[in-house]
Amino acid sequence: MNTSYKHESLLYEKLGEKKVQCLTCEHQCLIQQGKIGRCNTRINEEGILYTLNYGLVSSYSINPIEKKPLFHYHPGTYAATLGSLSCNFSCLWCQNWEISKTNPFETATTSFLSPNEVERRIIKNSAITGVSFSFNEPTLSLEYALDIFNLLDDNIYKMLVTNGYMTIKALDLLIKGGLTGVSVTIKGDESMVKKYCKANVSKVWEKIEYLVEKGIHVEIICLIIPTLNDNIAFYQEVSTKILTIDKKIPLHFTRFFPSYKFTQVEATPISTLEKAHGTAKRIGLEYVYLGNVNGHTLENTYCPKCQELLIQRTGYRLKMYLDLKKAQCPKCGLMIPLQT
Ligand code: SF4
Ligand code: SF4
Repeated sequence: MNTSYKHESLLYEKLGEKKVQCLTCEHQCLIQQGKIGRCNTRINEEGILYTLNYGLVSSYSINPIEKKPLFHYHPGTYAATLGSLSCNFSCLWCQNWEISKTNPFETATTSFLSPNEVERRIIKNSAITGVSFSFNEPTLSLEYALDIFNLLDDNIYKMLVTNGYMTIKALDLLIKGGLTGVSVTIKGDESMVKKYCKANVSKVWEKIEYLVEKGIHVEIICLIIPTLNDNIAFYQEVSTKILTIDKKIPLHFTRFFPSYKFTQVEATPISTLEKAHGTAKRIGLEYVYLGNVNGHTLENTYCPKCQELLIQRTGYRLKMYLDLKKAQCPKCGLMIPLQT
């Protein structure tokens, strides 16, 4: 493999006898000398933990922020978006499995992009106003993301699309580095996340609360997968949890399409997503959206007080019916939580 991808990890503890504990994500792997962590991106060599994916880019593209999806964060803008390889979760339905299930030893379709090269590309293209790490799990690119964040001016927003399984230590570094926006996926309830992702969903909720406390913009995504989490109890659980944090947090119920090793069910019926939406609204959430249903009216933003249409979305095309700078409903005057 290209040795440029190797970089000492920022967060780990040396435990003696050349054993280390990685503190990047909540798996907190104990890694013996010569072994790699669960995500295949970190190796213990002689008691030093290295990332194997620094600067390893599987995809660099310019994407609308609505694709993340973030609907209340710099609407209508474009972010340079980077993905790498591998993941710390094991979802059977992964929509990006070509990269998330490939480890950094298999580098055929990737390239090395130095942080300076990423900065140069961003500065050169005036259409780009932000940078985003997405496609595979960005926590695994912590060191690389921080180096890029640190090179960029404050007027370039910095965001992640994540499963929310990083440690608080990793989050603190990212926030210090300028992170201002996050879209976090809640995969399912406790038993589903344990069974399919080999993870503890309460750790993800803990990070959501922490991000909100720190003033970071958060939107929550639930991919609704037939037979796994398409039930009222799950919609209620997610909505109630969000309500206890902040009823203004946008929640997106997105449509599943058969993918990777979960192809035995059809795409999520639109009526199922509408049911989830209705549940969340009845519980009291103010901004609930459907996703992956191009042109559906529930992709629009409506004023939660007077129901006025504020932002109309058709795919990634937006029509604004409010002044983004004022962020106020033009009909009833309610302030709308929009970060611009
Ligand atoms: S990032 Fe997570 S999964 Fe990967 S080695 Fe570290 S603790 Fe383990
Ligand atoms: S967390 Fe996301 S990228 Fe990772 S396996 Fe699951 S769906 Fe794929």
